[in-house]
Amino acid sequence: MSRRVLLTGGNGFIGSHILAQLLDSGFSVCCAVRTQEKGDKILRDFAVQQDQLAITIVPNIVAPEAYRDAVQGTPPFDTVFHAASPFTYRDVQNNLEFLEPAIKGMLNLLKAVKDNAPSVKRVIWTGSCASVIDYDQLTSDPPKIYTEEDWNPITWEEAAHGDPSKAYRASKLFAEREAWNFMKEEKPHYDLVTLCPPATFGPLRHSISSIGDLNESNSRLWKLCFDSTKDAPMPYIPVHTYVDVRDLAAVQLKAMTVPEAGNQRFLVCAQQFGCQDICDILRSRFAELSDRTPLGKPGTSSLPPGAYSVDNSKVKRLLGVEFRTLAETVADVACCLLDIEHTEKQAHH
Ligand code: NDP
Repeated sequence: MSRRVLLTGGNGFIGSHILAQLLDSGFSVCCAVRTQEKGDKILRDFAVQQDQLAITIVPNIVAPEAYRDAVQGTPPFDTVFHAASPFTYRDVQNNLEFLEPAIKGMLNLLKAVKDNAPSVKRVIWTGSCASVIDYDQLTSDPPKIYTEEDWNPITWEEAAHGDPSKAYRASKLFAEREAWNFMKEEKPHYDLVTLCPPATFGPLRHSISSIGDLNESNSRLWKLCFDSTKDAPMPYIPVHTYVDVRDLAAVQLKAMTVPEAGNQRFLVCAQQFGCQDICDILRSRFAELSDRTPLGKPGTSSLPPGAYSVDNSKVKRLLGVEFRTLAETVADVACCLLDIEHTEKQAHH
């Protein structure tokens, strides 16, 4: 296989699954990461495929011309995947820590590819349903069904001065808006695909040594559903749909090869879920979680009446992806996370 791709965020939860599927499909991948240490960890995690891997260091994606050198591959890149963007609330001091890397990182990359990488045909960006959903209207009568036409109406004011979750969501919104504006105004030689996943769950493809190092979405699942108590109130997550990270990665690879995907936005959602559904699956399959997983009212829906949902017909039609069931995703996450917890406990003995 001659195609060569550049991937940002390859050391993260979603990025490492994109990397795994690219490598398994025979692609040669250059990962842009912030430090050599992070690059070395990728090389260790994917040791058996090291001959298909290269690392390039981009220390600060916000700096002007940040990606100028990274996009100039030898041999040249054909496709660029951009999955690097802040999505952890640990140690956040200021909302701009979400907004700036998301927006400037995206624009710096698009500009670098336009100016320095004539071989690139497509840029594929990991967006989010956060740029689609109106989080001030999670329920309505009749229930809202979101499509690719919808945009989160959040303003810059709310994002800059509201709680950090607003800043995260807005970082995805403004990055995507700016990206499409760039495409319209600059008319570069490549096309853009934006993929908007909802809550993304799944087993890890990168190594971590502690549950405390889990990525944001799996960490939320762990705290609310795996490591709570039987009597805890059933939690509510305002993101009503999920996708399995392995299916999201498969969509990313399809987005690279399907010509009609060019300059399209896709909502990459499997189906609606509530925490009760997840807890029911955990309780039925993992006896060791019986005292740690909220019981709630088994077999009922924990979503509020009129809860919004998402129309996933476009991604299914154009990219032909079959989504895993929630039961499969939850069971595989549980096996992975319980294993990490077990290893961590053993290391402390
Ligand atoms: P992770 O935290 O696991 O990965 C984030 C990646 O982005 C890491 O490679 C990280 O590198 C990089 N990154 C974060 N901040 C910066 C920064 N300031 N400068 C350079 N690189 C940075 O999260 P996910 O894998 O879950 O998220 C990946 C993408 O998917 C994000 O764009 C996120 O918005 C999006 N997404 C995630 C969802 C989910 O449920 N997980 C749902 C919808 C969208 P480093 O190690 O150097 O920090």
